Amino acid sequence: MHPWISERSQAFDSSGIRRVFDLAANLKDPINLSIGQPDFDVPEAVKGAAIQAIESGKNAYSPTQGIAALRERLGEQVSEAYPTHQDRELFISSGTSGGLVLTMLSMINPGDEVIFMDPYFVMYPSLVRMCGGVPVPVDSYPDFAINPDRIAEAVTPKTKMILLNSPANPTGVTADRESLEAVAKLAQEKGIALVSDEIYSSFFYDGDFVSPAEFNDQTIVIDGFSKSHAMTGWRVGYVHGPKDVISVMLKLQQYSFVCSPQPAQWGALEATSVDLSNHVNDYRKKRDFICAELADHYEIAKPNGAFYVFPKAPCDGGAAFVERAITENLLIVPGNIFSHRDSHFRISFAASDETLRRGVEVLKRLARS
Ligand code: PMP
Repeated sequence: MHPWISERSQAFDSSGIRRVFDLAANLKDPINLSIGQPDFDVPEAVKGAAIQAIESGKNAYSPTQGIAALRERLGEQVSEAYPTHQDRELFISSGTSGGLVLTMLSMINPGDEVIFMDPYFVMYPSLVRMCGGVPVPVDSYPDFAINPDRIAEAVTPKTKMILLNSPANPTGVTADRESLEAVAKLAQEKGIALVSDEIYSSFFYDGDFVSPAEFNDQTIVIDGFSKSHAMTGWRVGYVHGPKDVISVMLKLQQYSFVCSPQPAQWGALEATSVDLSNHVNDYRKKRDFICAELADHYEIAKPNGAFYVFPKAPCDGGAAFVERAITENLLIVPGNIFSHRDSHFRISFAASDETLRRGVEVLKRLARS
């Protein structure tokens, strides 16, 4: 290790996910079911609004908290969803990731414990460690449900935060209302910060999205436009929560991200008026297709949201299975980069119907062999 490198950045590594990128780079025209972003393009109206912003000179820094028009629009949506939550402020972050970084930096002291379900989004344990905190993954196999009893058992006097993600990456599983309410109440009773990563809230296939913020008015909600509007490269997210916490996040944003790119924020303002139902219906069909095709071959917890399926590998571990898939030109992601276990793999169905069909054929063949 180079002598200049901080201890903080040695507390975690990114070799697992890098290996997947390396494998992807080596394949020529793979059947790619590994991608964590929609396969549709940014809506035309959103592109137009960003181009218009650039051409009309809206190219400077925005206020740290984001442009007023976007904050107002999102603020209205939040007030409508949570009319009784008085102590609530909202700001625009540099993507959901920017919001997550500021959430951790503003609240996690060395030694603080952060509870989240395992499997988890890859950033969670690393961000916690970056702040000197202790990740406390709570096993959610085999159904990947948010389990309030297991979360309650994991709480210690050092628990500072519970981080929820429904619909979830990498499983696509969504939490039911009762579980969210139980965890929200638990956090409230124990004075634990409750953070809800809702980046997949638009991709909800059966029933309506439920947020734990409904049951706990101190919940910190992180959401963004990356997935809903295929704007992963634009870096627009938003965070809302208790005013005193948000003001600390803004102080940190001022000296780090500065602001979300201004033209992208004008695009996001337009995005709030775009009807996503066609895309959601399309993704529901893709979900139905892949689950029906694989049902007789793999153990699958049915995903009700996001655009992922997380099947159990048939015999070998998840990583070994992925190596086998790659020899068949199929790119999927080993479950062990999202988990302490190496038994599953992640499929993203954010792909064309043709790609999905080809992928399913390979997966069926691999299950039989
Ligand atoms: N949270 C989850 C659960 C995600 O899957 C992702 C993207 N893969 C993010 C946050 C980050 O999204 P972004 O920073 O692009 O908004």
